[in-house]
Amino acid sequence: MYGIGLLKGMVVTIKRMVMPVATIQFPEVTRPMSPRARTNLLWFDERCTGCSTCAQACPDGCILVETSPNADGTLNKVRYEIDFRICMYCGLCVEACPYQAIQSGGVFEDAVYEFDTMYKDKHALTKLAHEHLRRNDFTYPHGQVAPKEIIELIAIDQRAHPEPMSKGERVVGASTRG
Ligand code: SF4
Ligand code: SF4
Repeated sequence: MYGIGLLKGMVVTIKRMVMPVATIQFPEVTRPMSPRARTNLLWFDERCTGCSTCAQACPDGCILVETSPNADGTLNKVRYEIDFRICMYCGLCVEACPYQAIQSGGVFEDAVYEFDTMYKDKHALTKLAHEHLRRNDFTYPHGQVAPKEIIELIAIDQRAHPEPMSKGERVVGASTRG
């Protein structure tokens, strides 16, 4: 019978017209990122010894680590920077790090408007890392819970800066941990 296909199409159209909208107004509104998302790299200062193994493992030379010796034999991390402009996300730095200080994972703010903002110093990296922890029950991407002092530090920082990380961000939906 002629017209069956047309009718089927109209049924789909009318159903879609009365259903809730599936799209969101990105970038003003974002959905929660799964804690299992492996979209980028996260660097956790508190886990990092400054050993530079990650920098040596990186084939692209994206990672810069500059240290100075402390009196107790540890290293003071003067600089820790990742140039995401040239990173190919191979994950070799993640595999090389003996302390899981650099892990695969990310938050929505990885998406940027300006290319040069993909160069992240240790402060920018820490901001992203803390944001990831705050949104994911203070759990690192590999599943371990952050130490108490880091949880307290993030809580203090949030009280001082209660506004969302990125301008216009309004996360919709519940956490997708699991
Ligand atoms: S993911 Fe690969 S290219 Fe990017 S910083 Fe790590 S080792 Fe370098
Ligand atoms: S991220 Fe890991 S490999 Fe890189 S300097 Fe820190 S502890 Fe060493």
